[in-house]
Amino acid sequence: MLHIQGFTFNHFQENTYVLWDETGSCMVVDPGCYFPEEKEQLKSFIEENKLKPELLVNTHCHIDHVLGNDFVIDTWKLPLHLHQGELKTYTGNSAFAAMFGIPKPQVPENLIFLEPNSKIKFGNTSFQVLFTPGHSVASVSFYQKESKILLAGDVLFKQSIGRTDLPGGNHQQLIDSIKQVLFKLPDECIVFSGHGPSTTLGEEKLNNPYLR
Ligand SMILES: [Zn+2]
Repeated sequence: MLHIQGFTFNHFQENTYVLWDETGSCMVVDPGCYFPEEKEQLKSFIEENKLKPELLVNTHCHIDHVLGNDFVIDTWKLPLHLHQGELKTYTGNSAFAAMFGIPKPQVPENLIFLEPNSKIKFGNTSFQVLFTPGHSVASVSFYQKESKILLAGDVLFKQSIGRTDLPGGNHQQLIDSIKQVLFKLPDECIVFSGHGPSTTLGEEKLNNPYLR
């Protein structure tokens, strides 16, 4: 049985997720914890629930999604999984960091590159890696078939879609990623996005004003 806990962190109200199964192993997705109390919140949750972090993944590497990578890496000694194409996004964060007075995020040393359509695993659970570019140059989404859970990063939101005005963004590519990749999954699939509340694919097919 898969469980999920969301946290909303940093200046950008970014959603960080922890997912775990009956083994107690867990995966941390897009840790955005920046302020000390946010890091403490994530750590306490993992410790209080006796979880064992096994996997650290980024859907993409915009600054709000990577601010807590170093903390997770240092605390639980994990490599970072990301799509290789997102290295450019990671290093491109300097300008945003300066704008917000945040120290420039450094690309971690220990990286594992995600291949589209491959699987990532923790405990008894595996997620499929879906290549869904458009919001950023090599955004990926993660899909868990049995639980019908989709981690969509900033590709798709409840009643909205990811912005495409940042470097590496491409509107048509984003629409194609949503319609040709995400919308091929079951309608009842629950979507957990990088910002805002969760939704389902069926609901977005019907109600999302950007996808009519
Ligand atoms: Zn983003």
